[in-house]
Amino acid sequence: MMKANPFVAKLIGKHTKLLTKIKENGVLLNNAVKNLFDKKGFCNSGSGQKLLKNIKQLECEAKAYELENIQLRDSLSKLKKQLELQIRGNQPGNQEPQLLDKQHGCERRESDRKLVTKGTAKRPAPRPSYKEVKKPRQQLDRDYSPAVRGKNIKLGLTGLRNLGNTCYMNSILQCLSNTTPLVEYCTSDRFKSHINSDNQTKGQVIEEVAAILKKLWTAKFKSVACNDLWHIVGQFGESFRGSAQQDAHEFLTLLIDFLQSDVQTMLVDPRTDRMITPAKTAWNEFTKCKESFILQLFYGQLKSTIKCRVCATDSRRYEVFSSLSLDLPPNADVCDLKECLDMYFGSGGVEGWNCPGCRKKCDAFKKLDVSVLPPVLVIQIKRFWPSPQAGGGYEKKKTLVHFPLEDLDMQPYVAPLEFELRPDIPKKYRLYGVSNHFGSIGSGHYKALCKSPVYDSWFQFNDQIVEAVDMSAVVSRAAYILFYTCLPRKPLDG
Ligand SMILES: [Zn+2]
Repeated sequence: MMKANPFVAKLIGKHTKLLTKIKENGVLLNNAVKNLFDKKGFCNSGSGQKLLKNIKQLECEAKAYELENIQLRDSLSKLKKQLELQIRGNQPGNQEPQLLDKQHGCERRESDRKLVTKGTAKRPAPRPSYKEVKKPRQQLDRDYSPAVRGKNIKLGLTGLRNLGNTCYMNSILQCLSNTTPLVEYCTSDRFKSHINSDNQTKGQVIEEVAAILKKLWTAKFKSVACNDLWHIVGQFGESFRGSAQQDAHEFLTLLIDFLQSDVQTMLVDPRTDRMITPAKTAWNEFTKCKESFILQLFYGQLKSTIKCRVCATDSRRYEVFSSLSLDLPPNADVCDLKECLDMYFGSGGVEGWNCPGCRKKCDAFKKLDVSVLPPVLVIQIKRFWPSPQAGGGYEKKKTLVHFPLEDLDMQPYVAPLEFELRPDIPKKYRLYGVSNHFGSIGSGHYKALCKSPVYDSWFQFNDQIVEAVDMSAVVSRAAYILFYTCLPRKPLDG
């Protein structure tokens, strides 16, 4: 009954060919990138530009293959379903070609809707090539390809395509996409009235982040790619050029820094403060009396105190942070986040501190506190350690850290007797996002786990694949960057 169907054979043949093409393209791309980075001073020369052009061409081809591959895979899975149905329903095998044609008709019609303007959709169009898909971009100069449209896509649950080792970026963007105040700020275009034209990036990073957040929140796409954001970040952050695997925390730190500076235009008059404390002075020195929505959302301040054991003279230093990087307890396979926080904020002895009171070297205490808590608290679990066994390289620790999903209490770490910059901020935080790192330092993969503010349940964002997960999956040995907030569940502006 199941004679070899020529259509199936063709489809499989095409699939195999495509796989080979993808592999070849990958090798070419890799070689091109290597070439570019191996030769210093190459970038300015004519041959460098030519190579860059080649790479761009190869990247485009790679994307085209990817898109074609998705379409082929969809066709194959539809075909599989139909065959299964036929076998179950005992339908004669000779109906297969008809069913396939019908199915492709459907596909074509769907493509027509995407591609052909009103009034010309009657004529059956050929299967679209990549170039045709690319032309009618909604926003002229933004590239979200390969974007995959879908029906019944849930709000905020759009995946991000991998552009070649960009899972570090995707996992961070999904965590940011579940940061409600940021999404509101960007999708409402409120940021546009704050754009800073005097900084290095001139508002381009927040423009791109806003564009991709808008795309993720249209509920029209299964997945999109953020080519332009990747390009812009690479333009200003050298280490994020090319397609090498990167550290998600480094990317996040740089991105938040760019975003902050892109909208840092809110003038703050220091004279309106009731009381100027050293903490506030240090804060104003950092901001230069210009704040931003991003600063007020993600940035906090640490206070480091050294106190002489002899005369009790102390010295205080203040430092602004956009995330806390916590060490793991040595030799522990399982620990609690509180242990890491206690270690980080714990006091310790300092020998031979130059005491300004005693005017000589003294023994002293050292203590770290939070002087300003941010509404969004990002915590990095430092899993990557320089290891003697790795010959000066880094090694990954897979310690299981138990962290709370609700009620992370930061009160014990807040500096006592400090004038509070944000007195109304609650000290209890709830988790809403995790950037997970799987595998080793050399060959790893990032996925994000986020609690959707719409559905109030957890989802895993694995590049383009988004799926619901049980909250019991949130705490794991893969947890690398934690996103906490003390803000109420409803949006900031109510
Ligand atoms: Zn002293």
